[in-house]
Amino acid sequence: MALIITDDCINCDVCEPECPNGAISQGEEIYVIDPNLCTECVGHYDEPQCQLVCPVDCIPLDPAHVESPEELMEKYRILTGKA
Ligand code: SF4
Ligand code: SF4
Repeated sequence: MALIITDDCINCDVCEPECPNGAISQGEEIYVIDPNLCTECVGHYDEPQCQLVCPVDCIPLDPAHVESPEELMEKYRILTGKA
């Protein structure tokens, strides 16, 4: 499952540089996560780094993008080119 940033986002900028996949960017009004790039940090870290740093706790799992741990690891491999 990718994560999603809700409209509680206060545009504090701290999550964007923490994402190992470059999945977070400034959107039109708030920061956004590209679900094609988010692996829930699988392959890089034990926990989603953006959730850890967000001061307003506005980055839940996105029920529209459900993926198993195996699918997330495969996504990580494809994104990083690691076998
Ligand atoms: S969970 Fe990890 S990969 Fe997904 S947006 Fe947050 S920091 Fe990036
Ligand atoms: S850390 Fe949270 S509040 Fe700050 S920009 Fe990211 S999603 Fe928005």
